[in-house]
Amino acid sequence: MPVKKVTVRVPAKINLQLSVGPRESDGYHNLVTVFQAISIFDEVTVEFTPANSGVSISITGDQTHGVPADANNLAIKAVELMAKEYDLEVDAHIEIKKAIPVAGGMAGGSADAAATIVAIDYLYSLGMSREEMTEIASQLGSDVPFMLSGGTAIGTGHGEQLTAALSRGTYHWVLALSTVGLSTPAVYTECDRLRSGSEIAEPQTNEQLMQALLAADPKAVGANLVNDLQAAACSLRPALRLVLDVGQEYGALGALVSGSGPTVAFLVSDEEAGLDLAVALTASGVVGSVARAYGPVHGAKILN
Ligand code: ATP
Repeated sequence: MPVKKVTVRVPAKINLQLSVGPRESDGYHNLVTVFQAISIFDEVTVEFTPANSGVSISITGDQTHGVPADANNLAIKAVELMAKEYDLEVDAHIEIKKAIPVAGGMAGGSADAAATIVAIDYLYSLGMSREEMTEIASQLGSDVPFMLSGGTAIGTGHGEQLTAALSRGTYHWVLALSTVGLSTPAVYTECDRLRSGSEIAEPQTNEQLMQALLAADPKAVGANLVNDLQAAACSLRPALRLVLDVGQEYGALGALVSGSGPTVAFLVSDEEAGLDLAVALTASGVVGSVARAYGPVHGAKILN
């Protein structure tokens, strides 16, 4: 009896480093980024449906607003790409139970695409290697390969060329979420605008951050968080500066806008400090909502 249904759990990411090189002639930027997968998860269930019914999708969970329930959804794009590459006739329903904030700089769409690759590989017994999955993933978006592997990794190129980072320990995060997302392309454009006329160096790995991760030293990790898109995200959303200030005032070890924002991530020493900071941020009134998470965690993983 062939398997008919599978659920894959996939985490969100934050960037501990996001260094952005000059704008290239193709409009993209070379990056050096350090990803960490954290414990906020989407669940993607793919279930076979009768022949010729096509591919459908539904979105459930806490974060449904702004998620396309049509062919624009990255999960559907993943199915279409795999159908083409592996010559599959796919009749299936995809349900995304969404907890990752949408357009929050946490790669939720990329995460769902990665989960869908794992689900289709399993349902069709394709036996794909990690390399094959990564190849498909990188065609869907620069963050998708990382969502397959999870953990902590250095991303170069556009972020899709991954090397595992030597990281020890568990890191506790408090996330200040916004109800309205920021568009990643708009944030890059603003970054280019703010930096126009300045000489921009090619991005490099932040060795102090790597040492701190290796030493499992959250204080040093906190002191070395860096995001070249932060100024642009704050320029488009000035209230983020207030959020960063409040978090630091209440004892965060470090703070940064995650990816292209508007989520702000605060590193804290332990769960208790996280709870205190979450309460302070909520009471401050400058934050839409607050979540707590830890990392690193695994990438896309079959649940049943
Ligand atoms: P990134 O950090 O990878 O640039 P993000 O975390 O800021 O992205 P996403 O949550 O991935 O943003 O969503 C960006 C846009 O992608 C959404 O506004 C939505 O229109 C579209 N999208 C397509 N598929 C999905 C999906 N499965 N989940 C969320 N958004 C999706």
